[in-house]
Amino acid sequence: MYRTHNCGELRMQHVGQEITLSGWVQNTNDLGYMMFLNLRDRYGITQLAFNEENTSKELFEKARTLGREFVIRIKGEVIERASKNDKIPTGSIEILVKGLDILNASRVPPFTIEDETDGGEDLRMKYRYLDIRRSPVQQSLIFRSHVAIESRKYLAGEGFIEVETPNLIKSTPEGARDFVVPSRMNPGQFYALPQSPQTFKQLLMVAGMDKYFQIVKCFRDEDLRADRQPEFTQIDCEMAFVTRDEVLRNFEGLTKYLFKTVCNIELADFPLMQYDDAMRRYGSDKPDTRFGMEFCELNDLAKNKGFVVFDNAELVVGICAEGQANGYSNKDLKNLTEWMQRPQIGAKGLVWVKVNADGTFKSTVGKFFSDEDIKEWAEKMNAKPGDLLLILSGEAEKTRKQLNELRLEMGRRMGLMKPGDFKPLWVVEFPLLEWDEEAGRFHAMHHPFTSPLPEDEEKMLGGDHETMKNLKANAYDLVINGVEIGGGSIRIHDRALQEKNFKLLGFTPEEAEAQFGFLLGAFEYGAPPHGGIAFGFDRICAVMRGQTSIRDFIAFPKNNMGRDVMIDAPSVIDEGQYEELYLRSTAEDEV
Ligand code: ASP
Repeated sequence: MYRTHNCGELRMQHVGQEITLSGWVQNTNDLGYMMFLNLRDRYGITQLAFNEENTSKELFEKARTLGREFVIRIKGEVIERASKNDKIPTGSIEILVKGLDILNASRVPPFTIEDETDGGEDLRMKYRYLDIRRSPVQQSLIFRSHVAIESRKYLAGEGFIEVETPNLIKSTPEGARDFVVPSRMNPGQFYALPQSPQTFKQLLMVAGMDKYFQIVKCFRDEDLRADRQPEFTQIDCEMAFVTRDEVLRNFEGLTKYLFKTVCNIELADFPLMQYDDAMRRYGSDKPDTRFGMEFCELNDLAKNKGFVVFDNAELVVGICAEGQANGYSNKDLKNLTEWMQRPQIGAKGLVWVKVNADGTFKSTVGKFFSDEDIKEWAEKMNAKPGDLLLILSGEAEKTRKQLNELRLEMGRRMGLMKPGDFKPLWVVEFPLLEWDEEAGRFHAMHHPFTSPLPEDEEKMLGGDHETMKNLKANAYDLVINGVEIGGGSIRIHDRALQEKNFKLLGFTPEEAEAQFGFLLGAFEYGAPPHGGIAFGFDRICAVMRGQTSIRDFIAFPKNNMGRDVMIDAPSVIDEGQYEELYLRSTAEDEV
């Protein structure tokens, strides 16, 4: 037998018992006449004790040969510790070791297997199996498992059926590039890996499955960031005979259930915010509503007073950073302005106003505006003495995006993004289509299967170009703390409307038929009204744990170049494989 207990479960009540434990050597502390060893497994750490009085010389010598990460089995007696450690659950006891087997030796690990490791990202990824031994990574994976199991419980309880959809499919245009797989049996032809099971889940609704879900891998060949991976997981759902509000209620229910059961956090009801409002108030379709600092538009007060920069701007808009006037020296404000002028943000400049305690103002635009003028801005922005006003101007859409960056940065600096504070909301009524001047066609803001609002359907079938620009989508995103957790929509289920959408998106009827004939055809056999949503599963796990990177919630993630540095993928394939797959061989390539 390898163990009677695990390394996390022995307590005072076990004192006197003879036990067997197996695990990894975390570290040893040799004091000469006695030696302590921390034994670790997934469940915890237990202290082992060897001492001259009770341990045979032979056993002591053997213990001294142990290095970090050796795998051992010990037999011994649970005894009360002389000096207790209240930082770990097993801290009241230790094991007086009477027998020791070395089950496997270990080379010295390339980084320390501790909560705070000295290993850099690349090294940790190369030896991911060692990295996963570290408690923070292990806990993240355990957390993920918990969220997955609870999601299944909730959805099954609501009558959802888990259906698996294929991974070798034909490309669905959802905005990203496809990963493709050559077909040996169909020379010159390729499958695509699904960017999502979108069309399949819609077909399951046509098939009468009514409520579908799947915790499913999706593949997108995009440039990577901390919160993106080429393969990631979604909680993907679809429902028939539902309105938008029923979908929202269901998935608000799921989100609340997960926070409650996994984190013991009660979330309040999720407010709804229109896309236009989100853009106007926060300059973002995923606003972080843990703090205010909402945008205040100043066109009516700041334009036409002789300050050319404002006069030429489409929008003058600012935020009020409460109590920050004293904290920012001229030099700090210069640095902040330069931060805003970096190419990543691209602001031309930054106008600031300090509201002094005596009701006067100090600002960069004092030459152009009287204290009376500025007082009006301060009033509109609800500013108090001690506040700092930060104002941008320019083309409306760009300026809002820039101010969003500044608001988030100020929120961070002012400590307004409190860990443990969760502020979910639904963003609704996105534009359906975005006009692409260069390509001379529209893009779908969500994807091509999203329906317009019911009142916009007629307009979509019959309206002119301008009408198309103003159509609203029956789509929704769930946002928590500035992170898009998921999104979905009520779908088009009518062939004529879907054909019209493809046309607006630049498909000829032949192209639409070739790519989506199966779906258009299915719509002719009694497709019910339906809609759904998908949550980014890795992302919701990270957000629930207050983390920004999804990497530690994925057992074997890829790096920024899309590489798995542990198995060294992607890699070249054999010449024979090229031939078998009817691909151009590398030999030909070199000629
Ligand atoms: N398939 C969509 C996505 O992956 C989600 C949905 O519309 O249900 O974003």
